[in-house]
Amino acid sequence: MGKTVLILGGGVGGLVAANKLRSWLAGEHEVTLVDRQASFAFAPSFLWVMTGSRTAQKISRPLARLERRGIEVVRGEVESIEPFSRGVIVDGRSLEADYLVIALGAELAPELVPGLSQAGHDLYSLEGALSLREALSHFAGGRLVLLTAAPGYKCPAAPYEAAMLIEHECRRRGVRGQTEIELYSAEPAPMGVAGPEVSESVVRMLGEKGIRYHPGQQIQTVEAGRRLRFAGGLEAAFDLLAYVPPHRAPEVVREAGLTDESGWISVDRHTLQTRFPDVWALGDVVSIPLKLGKPLPRAGVFAHREAEVVARNIRRAISGKGRQAAFDGRGQCFIEAGSGKAGLGHGSFYAEPLPEVRLHRPARRWHLAKVFYEKEWLGRWL
Ligand SMILES: Cc1cc2nc3c(=O)[nH]c(=O)nc-3n(C[C@H](O)[C@H](O)[C@H](O)COP(=O)(O)OP(=O)(O)OC[C@H]3O[C@@H](n4cnc5c(N)ncnc54)[C@H](O)[C@@H]3O)c2cc1C
Repeated sequence: MGKTVLILGGGVGGLVAANKLRSWLAGEHEVTLVDRQASFAFAPSFLWVMTGSRTAQKISRPLARLERRGIEVVRGEVESIEPFSRGVIVDGRSLEADYLVIALGAELAPELVPGLSQAGHDLYSLEGALSLREALSHFAGGRLVLLTAAPGYKCPAAPYEAAMLIEHECRRRGVRGQTEIELYSAEPAPMGVAGPEVSESVVRMLGEKGIRYHPGQQIQTVEAGRRLRFAGGLEAAFDLLAYVPPHRAPEVVREAGLTDESGWISVDRHTLQTRFPDVWALGDVVSIPLKLGKPLPRAGVFAHREAEVVARNIRRAISGKGRQAAFDGRGQCFIEAGSGKAGLGHGSFYAEPLPEVRLHRPARRWHLAKVFYEKEWLGRWL
């Protein structure tokens, strides 16, 4: 008898899981994907939208394209999830699943910092990248501040990459001499889970570009007079502000009782199974604790690899085919450094007692590899 696999979220993880399952399962089984958005936008390219080297159209694809591959796409808001029965309500309509995959990502919550969204540009949304692009194209110099509002955000490299790309953009536009660039981070060091050597390399890269770095600063409020106020009394003025908002699990996930004390969904670190039968969760919505006391960083590369594991194991549960797969905590990430160069970090985040991560120095080839990856990824999954 045909089974139904319901995938909540058509982002990085949801797309990979849906495509893999559709290609592996016989036609009698249904694969359905739900998302509130009509189209998918490739978030690693938001940084290039910000600098003007990509348009929103260039990095977006309609989710309806999945229909051509035999995946049913339901556009709507996931309003409730009943994990025991695997029942879901989407825009008032009930959907039932034999196998449920939750890939709803992280919710961005700028409203947790008073004044933040009114004063600055959200680096982590497409709209924010577009508005920052517009602001940068008119920026004539002054104090340009980047801020991470809370530690534990997805893609730990992104705000550091943004600072270096903005620095390059200021040079390109001839306003670097009149511009001070500062980065205030809530976390004590860049990409801390990757280890002190990676952190030091990133701090060095910022220093070489004259970007002043202020780690461990917890923002409290952003005042209307373009002033940041941090816990501990530090204050900083700005003319242009770009920020990474606080993250949390989506409201529907929190209300379903799926989260634990971490505030996120806990899963088996190898199979991504939740404590509910035939319910998996993957990507940014989960928290996987590591031995060093911090969780696995949230990143598309992990969402992607976790989705492949989940798809394999659901295929096996349905058809008995294939091997049981296990996620191994390996991943890699490009670090855009400006001037057409990027670094590459890669390694094993499940290594114990500490993750083992190597960073390759910025070079043209890693930047080109990221360009290739973007094209390949979008072409393959949508
Ligand atoms: C600026 C930036 C740069 C990045 N660069 C990199 C990088 O270089 N490398 C890397 O590995 N990662 C990068 N990332 C992180 C990466 O994009 C995320 O980790 C990845 O998208 C997580 O995948 P996911 O499937 O868990 O969630 P998402 O891709 O966020 O997908 C979640 C989906 O769920 C949908 N959704 C949520 N709630 C509901 C609801 N209630 N109803 C209906 N739909 C809902 C959303 O619309 C969304 O489509 C970057 C992120 C940003 C913002």
